[in-house]
Amino acid sequence: MSELQKIISDQQIYFQSGTTKGLTFRKEQLKKLKSQISRFEEQFCSSVYEDFKKPHFETFETEIGLLYSEIDFTLRNLEQWTSKRTVETNLANLPARSYIQAEPFGVSLIIGAWNYPFLLTLHPLISAIAAGNTAIVKPSEVAIKSSEAVSDLIQSTFPKEYVFCAQGDHSVAQELLAQRFDKIFFTGGPAVGKIVYKAAAEHLTPVTLELGGKSPAFILPDANWKTTPKKLVWGKFINAGQTCVAPDYLLVHERDAPKLLEGLKMQIEKIHGPNPAESEAFSRIVNDRHFERVSKLIDKSKVYCGGQIDAEKRYIAPTVLYPATWEDACMQEEIFGPVLPVMPYSDFDSAIDEVKKRPKPLALYVFSKGRKARKKIMDQLSFGAAIQNDTLVHFANVHLPLGGVGDSGIGNYHGKYGFDAFSHYKSVMLRPSWPEPNIKYPPYTNWKQRLLRKLI
Ligand code: NAD
Repeated sequence: MSELQKIISDQQIYFQSGTTKGLTFRKEQLKKLKSQISRFEEQFCSSVYEDFKKPHFETFETEIGLLYSEIDFTLRNLEQWTSKRTVETNLANLPARSYIQAEPFGVSLIIGAWNYPFLLTLHPLISAIAAGNTAIVKPSEVAIKSSEAVSDLIQSTFPKEYVFCAQGDHSVAQELLAQRFDKIFFTGGPAVGKIVYKAAAEHLTPVTLELGGKSPAFILPDANWKTTPKKLVWGKFINAGQTCVAPDYLLVHERDAPKLLEGLKMQIEKIHGPNPAESEAFSRIVNDRHFERVSKLIDKSKVYCGGQIDAEKRYIAPTVLYPATWEDACMQEEIFGPVLPVMPYSDFDSAIDEVKKRPKPLALYVFSKGRKARKKIMDQLSFGAAIQNDTLVHFANVHLPLGGVGDSGIGNYHGKYGFDAFSHYKSVMLRPSWPEPNIKYPPYTNWKQRLLRKLI
């Protein structure tokens, strides 16, 4: 038995003991986790800075702060989520009492992506704990310092038989996936998502797959031309574009393209200065492989602004490409870097049809002061989440489920949806043991059939 197998087996025994199911226990663990995150704030910020020069402010804004609010929201609501929910009983089954009760799945596996290394491992962990599971957390090896920080936090907070952090590359993930888990929660790209889904199928393990893809932003003629570039530049270039819900490309009427381009360029200069390589607020690409991949997506003949790269520092300037077409290299895969193609359209309906033909996006953004065109886009297209007049901020609303559809994912989490992702809902019916009328038992007579029809 390998070390990992032994830990999984110990977690199964621990789960069977019933300890993790107690409401007080779950609340205590969440409080403990919150206070440990606050102790680790400095280590989190410096490790992610070492990994890809992410500014401390952004680590708090996009990771640590969200973890605090998720824990607080969960603590406020956990008692209600774990309570039995009484439901009606149908006439034919009366007298009886029916209710639904959430129960934890058992031993869960959480595999995280590297781009928000704390958020994407600890956020699902909050839900796993809240729902009463044990967990093995596998952070991505790509952000190595951050992975170590997650491991240090988990090790110093929980015993292995309850929560364990398995560090390592895809071989560790594959060793884990070969074992039987009661729930698998995966965040990453669609290619690895398929590997995880296949492995889960071997054991009929339920999965949540938080995947990625190309999230479009429509900039409509009635957009607010002052605030729109500001919000787009923020959402696209935060974390150097390495954000699953970043606007991947923009669709704008050809008539409005010049003013949009001008606005984007001005905004980039305003927040990162004339040379973003010197900006303390602009991150680097996480490793050489991704640097090579993203650099290749820049078609030099289409660079409107930016385009500078520095392989040694893994720096790619905030880059706007124009005019992008569906055939361009940057439109064939999720960009996941600071490159923003702007695609002009002449016909609004055809632009919607083009998006409709492609895999369903994780996020969709519409910039418009009005309702009609926004409604048309949102009604006709399928997506994980959409925002009018902003980018990314839905992520912070604990009342909205976060997840994709089709190629962008299966299932969702955040707030109550995260609790549900790690819970099975048991249906229970309580009937009295009194003598029972003979209607449902043979012989099947005409009068029984008539009565049955009435009851149903
Ligand atoms: P990835 O799919 O390469 O890796 C994710 C995890 O899977 C890592 O822990 C990695 O070690 C593991 N892994 C890699 N290869 C594996 C294999 N062959 N078998 C088993 N496990 C393997 O993704 P990434 O590069 O870390 O992250 C980028 C992707 O994640 C993007 O597509 C992005 O859109 C997506 N993402 C989605 C969300 C979301 O909430 N939906 C959030 C962040 C990132």
